[in-house]
Amino acid sequence: MECIFCRIIRKEIPSNIVYEDDNIIAFKDINPQAPVHLLVVPKKHIPNLLEVEEKDSFLILEITRVIKELAKTYNIDDKGFRVVINTGDEGGQTVHHLHFHLLGGRFMTWPPG
Ligand code: 5GP
Repeated sequence: MECIFCRIIRKEIPSNIVYEDDNIIAFKDINPQAPVHLLVVPKKHIPNLLEVEEKDSFLILEITRVIKELAKTYNIDDKGFRVVINTGDEGGQTVHHLHFHLLGGRFMTWPPG
């Protein structure tokens, strides 16, 4: 089956997009786990963190910039927030297209479940 995030990127399925440029897209998670739950995603199909190559390093920096911007937009930059990259089955990854969860708007617990 085709990657669901690639289909979101191509606008074949609807999503609530909160940021987009040539390389990065960010949209609201369909099943939010916090008042703010955004997914920040490189448009390039990279299956997971282990597959990031040196030539992709600018994407990681760009994603960091977008996370900072969104944290500010959603007023969670001062209060604090959590960024999560689930990787592999035991890591809880369900969509095999690299994505950064940006979670905020409530107190987080540790350790995560
Ligand atoms: P993972 O489990 O791979 O770390 O995260 C995948 C996330 O994508 C989950 O939080 C899930 O709710 C979200 N998700 C899965 N399918 C869709 C979709 O079609 N649209 C949106 N907006 N989010 C999705």
